[in-house]
Amino acid sequence: KAGLVERLAVKAGMAKAPGAVHAVDRVSLSIGKGEIVGLVGESGCGKSTLGRVACGLLPQTEGAILHNGQSLAETSPVQRREMQLGTQMIFQDPSSSLNPRMRVREIVGQAPRVHRMAPSSEIPALVDRYLGLAGIDPEVKDRFPHQFSGGQRQRIGIARALAVNPDMLVCDESVAALDVSIQAQILNLFLDLREELGLTYLFISHDLSVVRHISDRVAVMYLGRLVEEAPSAEIFRNAQHPYTRALLEEIPELVPKRRSYGVIKGEIPSPLNPPTGCHFHPRCPFATERCRMEVPKLRDVAPGHRSACHLID
Ligand code: SF4
Ligand code: MG
Repeated sequence: KAGLVERLAVKAGMAKAPGAVHAVDRVSLSIGKGEIVGLVGESGCGKSTLGRVACGLLPQTEGAILHNGQSLAETSPVQRREMQLGTQMIFQDPSSSLNPRMRVREIVGQAPRVHRMAPSSEIPALVDRYLGLAGIDPEVKDRFPHQFSGGQRQRIGIARALAVNPDMLVCDESVAALDVSIQAQILNLFLDLREELGLTYLFISHDLSVVRHISDRVAVMYLGRLVEEAPSAEIFRNAQHPYTRALLEEIPELVPKRRSYGVIKGEIPSPLNPPTGCHFHPRCPFATERCRMEVPKLRDVAPGHRSACHLID
């Protein structure tokens, strides 16, 4: 993105082996420093896989992951660990990722201690700082996770991620398990943390109304492929891909009732045996013979706006 230091660029694919799922197929996505990119799509479309690949938690079989222009695959083990610490993942369910037998101060202080990121004497101050940044009163740090609400547990998970001083968070359905009012608080926390710490985000969600609240740019995936990508305002005003339009129509308050593209027909096909040509063709009201034969390429439709659909011709 012009004028931005490239924070993350992913070109990822999975090798074709018989019976293997092509979870992420020729996806190319870059995220500028300080940017929030929303990644949307139905469950099973490969967005979590892409998030894990971006964090270095899963290896890609083809392509490259670049952090600040440097390839994750071509680094020494020490550099690799640093790059992995620099990109932290925030999961959906904080309860299952917080050890119930550890006190909050131990949970937040553990990684900096293990990775010797600060002398032991400085860990308590570091824990207080990150709990405070995540909106948890450091006074309660001797308590256990079960003594907190779901929203507070997510804040503890965020404090734990911040404690290793990342420059990027990959949020995978991080607010999906929370009540709507608490969701808004956590989304605002992410925005505040961007201001205070200069964080960059890949924000994965099936929920477009959540993504709209937080993202600068939105990328839409369908069955392992990127089908559309645009600045957030452009996606919500001028989506080009029939799949994106259908997703938007499921949120009635978002789209003025102009024209109906219809609810998406049928179930998402199995990624084990994806449809030929455009993966979306069995569900697309505009599909033609060409769509069954030929994979549509991503093309520019406006500055920063790319879409992969033969209709664009
Ligand atoms: Fe529909 Fe064809 Fe466009 Fe795919 S390429 S979204 S099937 S019109
Ligand atoms: Mg997922």
